[in-house]
Amino acid sequence: MTDRSRRLLDEHRDLQKAIELINLGARLQVIESEIPDISRPKLIRLYKDLQGQSPPKGLLPFSTEWFLTWQPNIQASLFYGIYQQLQGDNSNHPRLDLLICSYRLYREQVQHCPEAVVLGITRVWTLLRFFESKQLDMAVCTRCDGRFIVHAHSPVKQFVCGICHPPSRAGKRLKKSNKYVELTS
Ligand SMILES: [Zn+2]
Repeated sequence: MTDRSRRLLDEHRDLQKAIELINLGARLQVIESEIPDISRPKLIRLYKDLQGQSPPKGLLPFSTEWFLTWQPNIQASLFYGIYQQLQGDNSNHPRLDLLICSYRLYREQVQHCPEAVVLGITRVWTLLRFFESKQLDMAVCTRCDGRFIVHAHSPVKQFVCGICHPPSRAGKRLKKSNKYVELTS
């Protein structure tokens, strides 16, 4: 293959990946960070073509705390479990492909739950960054053996997850949805 055709092929792959991310609802900053070879003006044009509007401005959601609140914690733990599983089975796959694939699988799992999909693709992207910078970690629930997201470096000796010990307000909804428990435990 000539250099030129290799370059064209790379550009094509990058564009396909950017389109996939935009269609999944990713913020521009996520795409710029993951696919740095596409210029910003080109990316903005692509975004407008696909979404029919300019990309939203402003900061990305950036808080580890959000992932520790009840419902986001359960779904984010489910997502991260899927991601780790895929990563273990496909360690030579690009991280971005694993991210997209785990996100699709996560959405399939939760789309029929009454609580619906809580995590956007931008959120799960920030989640991976928190794990990579070792701000978040997983802990095993002492009651159900499920693995859940916790703050890194915070000692959790008798950790009990949000499913085994939901906040009182969430109890009713959780009982109605046994499937939810099965999927996440
Ligand atoms: Zn539990």
